[in-house]
Amino acid sequence: MNGARPVIIAGNWKMNTTPDTAGGLAADIAAATTVQGVVRVICPPFVCLRAVREALQGTDVEVGAQNVHWEPAGAFTGEISAQMLVGLADWSIVGHSERRRDQGEDDVMIGRKIVRCMEAGLRPILCVGEQLDEREQGRAEATVRGQLDATIAEVRRLGIDLPSNLVIAYEPVWAIGTGKTARGSDAATMAQAIRTVLAENAVDAARIPVLYGGSVTSAAIDEFLNEPDIDGALVGGASLKVDEMAGIVARAGITAQARSGAAAGAA
Ligand code: PEP
Repeated sequence: MNGARPVIIAGNWKMNTTPDTAGGLAADIAAATTVQGVVRVICPPFVCLRAVREALQGTDVEVGAQNVHWEPAGAFTGEISAQMLVGLADWSIVGHSERRRDQGEDDVMIGRKIVRCMEAGLRPILCVGEQLDEREQGRAEATVRGQLDATIAEVRRLGIDLPSNLVIAYEPVWAIGTGKTARGSDAATMAQAIRTVLAENAVDAARIPVLYGGSVTSAAIDEFLNEPDIDGALVGGASLKVDEMAGIVARAGITAQARSGAAAGAA
C-alpha cells in the first residue's frame, strides 16, 4: 500500500541563511540530490524564498515556507499570510514544535493554518510529536492523538475536510536539534497510530505520507526508511549541509525504487 505514497525529503532551514547565501545553497543541494522518485522540498526563511525559488528554476526541487499565519489578513504586525506566499512557495510547514514552544501556537491555530494553506494552494506539512516526559510516562500516542483530534476538529468546525494532499511529520520534541533520534520501530508505531486517528476522522489514511523528523542525518536515516509506514523525513540541521542532503536523498531513492518495484509487481 505504501507504493501509493511518495517518498519525501523536506529540509527545514529554520532561521539560517540570508537572501545572498540561500540561492547558492539551494542550487548546490539540488545538484547533489538528483535521485529518481524522491520528492525534495526546501523550506528556507521567508526572506529567502524568492532567491531559492529562482535558484531552483529548471529543477524539480520544490519550495516550502516554514509557517503561515492563521488569519487570512489583518492587523498582525510582522506576520506572513498564506496568500502572501502564492508564487513563492508550494508547501508550508505548520505546527512545528519550535513555534508551539516559542510562539505559543496551539492546535486550534494550527487547524486554521491548514485551512489558510488550502485556500492559498499550499501543501501543508503538519508537525506533531510528544515531549520527553510524555514518552517516559507512556503518553506519546495519547499526546499525538490529542494534537491531531484538536487540529482536525478545528478544520472541520470551519466546514472543511482535511486536505487530501496533507503530509504529517512525526517529530518527537526531545529528538529535535538534540542529536538524539527515536528508534525506527518507535517512529513506525507512532506513524501507525497517526494513521489510525486519521482513519477515525474519515481521512484516507493509507494515502497520507508520514515523515519522521528529529536529528535525521545521512547516518541515521536508514533506520527510518526501513520502516514501511514511514515515507521520508523532515530534516532540520542536516538540511543545511550539501553532503548530508546528498546522503539522505540517496538513501530515500533506494526506498522509492523499492516501492515503485513493489507497486509495479502488485499491478
Ligand atoms: C526540524 O526542524 O523539524 C528538525 C527535525 O530539526 P533537526 O533535524 O535539526 O532535529
